Amino acid sequence: MKIAILSRNPSLYSTRRLQEAIVAAGHEALIVDHSLCDLVIEQQGPKIIYKGQHLTDIDAIIPRIGASVTFYGTAVVRQFELMGAFSTVESQAIVRSRDKLRSLQILSKAGLGMPKTAFTNFSKGGEKALVEQVGGAPVIIKLLEGTQGLGVVLAETKKAAQSVIEAFHGLKARIIVQEYIKEAKGADIRAFVVNGKVVGAMKRQGAEGEFRSNLHRGGKATLIKLSRAERQAALQAAKALGLAVAGVDLLQSERGPLILEVNSSPGLEGIEKATGINIAGEIVSFIEEGVRKGKPLKRAI
Ligand code: ADP
Repeated sequence: MKIAILSRNPSLYSTRRLQEAIVAAGHEALIVDHSLCDLVIEQQGPKIIYKGQHLTDIDAIIPRIGASVTFYGTAVVRQFELMGAFSTVESQAIVRSRDKLRSLQILSKAGLGMPKTAFTNFSKGGEKALVEQVGGAPVIIKLLEGTQGLGVVLAETKKAAQSVIEAFHGLKARIIVQEYIKEAKGADIRAFVVNGKVVGAMKRQGAEGEFRSNLHRGGKATLIKLSRAERQAALQAAKALGLAVAGVDLLQSERGPLILEVNSSPGLEGIEKATGINIAGEIVSFIEEGVRKGKPLKRAI
């Protein structure tokens, strides 16, 4: 098979590991920078031109689309889907998961636990009410567009929360206000889901005095065995968002696992190093199964 990894950086750990796993399974690996693809759309035969050449005979793709290029990246994934390539994540599922608010709405519809969350349309003077909606201070305030823990603020008091909300709104930045889950103690769980199974899980603990557990913010990862409830919550969350490959972030709370976020391009480095599991190999096995079964696309576009 010819499998393309859509990635803007061939030297990234995840890209390299996927390439290795594809080759180890006896397939051909191609790294395609989606930002350099031109799309030709006409009545018949959608085409992709990459560095002056037509990309043809691609059996499957592994999209690794960064949050800053979601619009163009998902257009490229869609074009591959139109050309009949199997994708480890559907373009529409990437779009869905990138919208934090919409994702939370979908997860709530699926009956999954989550920190209580409030959202408002830059309403002036409503800051206090917004904080009260989620149970009062301390609260977490998050930029809707943030990633890697940047733009996530812990406001300890009602006054601090109100000023932060006012400041973000003054900058026309969209935010969500969320109940602070204190019992999580600066840790979260990342469950890596491939094809309806949790193939690996790690606990990330934030650095001393840091409530954010992101590895980019100095968090440390260790292997963890999930409880039944945690495993089920992770699988249901990935399913609700239509993601066959997903990194599901959970907080451990007094009322059970709470879904924080579901990532459609989860990194492999932290999870492979913490668990010693060949996650890239699991993704390639999923492609082999998907292509063999000729899994049809669930929707046209
Ligand atoms: P990002 O997408 O930028 O990583 P997250 O929503 O995952 O943002 O938040 C970053 C980190 O902050 C999480 O991994 C978690 O450790 C902590 N955190 C986020 N929301 C809450 C919350 N409601 N209660 C407690 N800790 C939280």
